[in-house]
Amino acid sequence: MNLILFGPPAAGKGTQAKRLVETRKMVQLSTGDMLRAAIASGSELGKRVAGIMERGDLVSDDIVIELIESRLPEAEAAGGAIFDGFPRTLAQAEALDRMLEHRGSRIDEVIRLKVDDEALMQRIAGRYAESGRPDDNPESFKVRLDAYNTQTAPLLPYYQGQKKLVEVDGMGSIEAVAAGIDKALDKAR
Ligand code: ADP
Repeated sequence: MNLILFGPPAAGKGTQAKRLVETRKMVQLSTGDMLRAAIASGSELGKRVAGIMERGDLVSDDIVIELIESRLPEAEAAGGAIFDGFPRTLAQAEALDRMLEHRGSRIDEVIRLKVDDEALMQRIAGRYAESGRPDDNPESFKVRLDAYNTQTAPLLPYYQGQKKLVEVDGMGSIEAVAAGIDKALDKAR
């Protein structure tokens, strides 16, 4: 089973993906985590993407598509992937469909976590104060939200057209959102 956790920045995708790794035999594939690991390691790739990420812009499709492709065998062996923060553009979504099809696999379900902009802003202000993640500053967060609205939200009709889209209320507590996701997944089986 391959699942996409879809939603704006700070919607809780990472938190919920980590929980699903614990409760179901799946591997979390977070392009944000992979890119942050590249920066932390001081690699060439890390140097190329650090400034782009700090501003809140999207890194190029080629880079993230390649990162994801390299991890597909591992996810397949584990029984499935939870895509977290990928795909973020139509080109990424089409590439993902092609890569999976090539492997005799597919996306089974896309779970959209719905959280309104005001709640996102509040969450991120709290997270910035706590963790100081460089791209959580208010200016970069606005760029990230704009990138979501202009480049990523157009994927919703793409997945709706494939009849894979399920909406889950992302405004509640972590447990309430988790329960909503479990319900959506169990219905899909
Ligand atoms: P969030 O969902 O909270 O914005 P992520 O960790 O998913 O955080 O992403 C952080 C940053 O990493 C993004 O703002 C972007 O610069 C880069 N990034 C992550 N995934 C992608 C992707 N699929 N395509 C382009 N850029 C990405």
